[in-house]
Amino acid sequence: MIPPSFDYHAPRSLGEAVSLLASLGEEAKLLAGGHSLLPMMKLRFAQPAHLIDLGAIQDLRGIREESGTLVIGAMTTEAELLGSALVRSKVPLLAEGASQIADPQVRYKGTIGGDLSHGDPGNDHPALMLALDAQFVLTGPRGQRTAPANGFFLGLYSTQLAPDEILTQIRIPIPAAGTGWSYQKLKRKTGDFATAATAVLLRMKGTAVAQAAIALTNAAPTALRATAAERALAGKALDAASLAEAARLAMSICQPAADLRGDVAYKTAMCGEMTRRALQAARARAGT
Ligand SMILES: Cc1cc2nc3c(=O)[nH]c(=O)nc-3n(C[C@H](O)[C@H](O)[C@H](O)COP(=O)(O)OP(=O)(O)OC[C@H]3O[C@@H](n4cnc5c(N)ncnc54)[C@H](O)[C@@H]3O)c2cc1C
Repeated sequence: MIPPSFDYHAPRSLGEAVSLLASLGEEAKLLAGGHSLLPMMKLRFAQPAHLIDLGAIQDLRGIREESGTLVIGAMTTEAELLGSALVRSKVPLLAEGASQIADPQVRYKGTIGGDLSHGDPGNDHPALMLALDAQFVLTGPRGQRTAPANGFFLGLYSTQLAPDEILTQIRIPIPAAGTGWSYQKLKRKTGDFATAATAVLLRMKGTAVAQAAIALTNAAPTALRATAAERALAGKALDAASLAEAARLAMSICQPAADLRGDVAYKTAMCGEMTRRALQAARARAGT
């Protein structure tokens, strides 16, 4: 299938991209890796008259550490995340999540910024960012603002990004040493979106949970933070009873859409199971 025709723009700086987006208005769409946008254009769900390709803007690339924060340019690809020793050593949850996105071809072109901006609850980065308490830097004609991941995702394909704003940076507080992590994703086959998935960060104090962050993928119109489940675990040993209660509380906030991956009851049950598995795997990696 061939997408409708469009004018192509390739700004070389962020300032140029912001000006173009402001002047072309809602007729324009930003192009990152194109692995969500182009399929939507081919299906006529999106018909932008202009595409603004962010690919030549060097300021939107790169991964660095800055005062306890991992700073990632929005145009960083999944393959670059996976190849980064900094990501693997400082925020291994992100590497584990990125490794389960799609297939090598998609990971070579798809970007973390595009994955987040798209607002698809089936994408994996939104839940990872919720669990990691990430902050997003948004740049537009009025300047820069920072939006926490928690509250950024408003609904199906809807985020806090204004039509004239560009997601430029993802800022992730580096978890304390000894923090356990896991991203457990159930998918029908390699390259598929999640039937259900759970991201967990876990800190233990002796045998009790000191702090848990739990976030769910594809369980509702947006990624969800399972705060009741997190609270229920605090101060408890991670045993069969507390795991079952955390899974139950995670399932209680699920509102998945029935589709070829399963009906509502199955997807909700799988969300509980992924939560239980992610907590167990994070426990095995956490220091005490
Ligand atoms: C076969 C297949 C399987 C896939 N499986 C998965 C999966 O398992 N998990 C997963 O998470 N994803 C999956 N994806 C989606 C893939 O990860 C996409 O690459 C991602 O959703 C979008 O990133 P992109 O860089 O390709 O963005 P694009 O497709 O270029 O853009 C997506 C949207 O975001 C906007 N946008 C892009 N960058 C910015 C920015 N910096 N600021 C503001 N708006 C911006 C665009 O205008 C567009 O509306 C899959 C895709 C395919 C084709």
